[in-house]
Amino acid sequence: MGVTSSVYDAGHTHVLFGADERTGLRTIIAVHSTVLGPALGGTRFYPYDSVDDALQDVLRLSRGMTYKNAAAGLNLGGGKAVILGDPRTDKTPDLLRAYGRVVENLDGLYITAEDVGTDTDDVAIIRETTRHALGLSVDRGGSGDPSPFTALGVFSSMLAAAEHAWGSDELRGRTVTVQGVGKVGYHLVQQLVEAGCEVVVTDVFQPSIDRVVEEFGVKAVATDDIYDVEADIYAPCALGATLNAETIPRLRCAIVCGAANNQLATDDDADHLVAQGILYAPDFVVNAGGVINVSQERRGYDRKRSAEKVRELRKATRRILSVASEEGINPHLAAVRLAEARIKAAQDQG
Ligand code: NAD
Repeated sequence: MGVTSSVYDAGHTHVLFGADERTGLRTIIAVHSTVLGPALGGTRFYPYDSVDDALQDVLRLSRGMTYKNAAAGLNLGGGKAVILGDPRTDKTPDLLRAYGRVVENLDGLYITAEDVGTDTDDVAIIRETTRHALGLSVDRGGSGDPSPFTALGVFSSMLAAAEHAWGSDELRGRTVTVQGVGKVGYHLVQQLVEAGCEVVVTDVFQPSIDRVVEEFGVKAVATDDIYDVEADIYAPCALGATLNAETIPRLRCAIVCGAANNQLATDDDADHLVAQGILYAPDFVVNAGGVINVSQERRGYDRKRSAEKVRELRKATRRILSVASEEGINPHLAAVRLAEARIKAAQDQG
């Protein structure tokens, strides 16, 4: 069975292959669900090894957006797009305009935004040929860099997790390990230090470590040592799949709550965390701050209102952790079920 047959497996409503000979554009847009509203998700510009790899990625990512947007309480469905190519060499304004025309042809079914390999400047160009793109820079009246809002959402969710685990949201004096101090990790470290936490960081890129050590006076450890640090909270903010059979037994923390996408190597790892007495705040819930922020552009962007919306992730996380405890299921499953229930309720209403 080829990967194309898997198009039907996860119930995507639309998958569109688009090309433009003149600019070399090759794109795939996947709309997974529009039950809650138009499908919002970014455009990933990436040098995939094959069209099959690109298709697999866009199918997986768009489905993930359905759950993320539903869990965040947004009236938006899930979609995602990929452009095949190297953003450093293949990305031209003409190609982005051609891409915008493909998005425009979907007539609002899919709303795009930035993702890996695209940024706010690219969104501005895409906007020349489609109305359905969000994520303009602040000086163009848009919502700008989503990372500080993603960090705010993670921090707000940590408060809920702390309350659930310890009966208090006081983070002062707690030790938090942060894996990856890039765009999101940097802002998260800042908030944690301001809240009085002891922060231990790691990164594979030394200048990123130096920046947070110098600016915030935090401690740093070698990349692989982060799992062994005795801490209250572990915040994965780098790669996916860092919660796996090798790392989970090493963790010496009470809570996992971080920004990285797809932290669990397998769904079973959510149960392995429970078995080890670790409270897991589901990644796709706690890292929704960026998409909440960009979605605010639809109603006229206001930075303060956006931050308030992002802080509401605390309530969403609290509810998921409570449901998980009450039903004796792991928090990842609880989050998936709550998102599915929201979609089903909207479907039933017609
Ligand atoms: P980034 O690329 O700016 O930062 C990631 C950091 O992780 C980099 O500094 C990198 O050097 C470091 N890193 C890579 N491999 C590592 C390793 N093995 N150990 C330690 N550090 C490592 O990315 P970002 O925008 O900060 O996003 C971080 C994570 O959060 C990603 O998984 C991303 O998908 C997810 N996320 C980001 C946003 C957002 O608003 N930027 C929103 C939702 C989810």
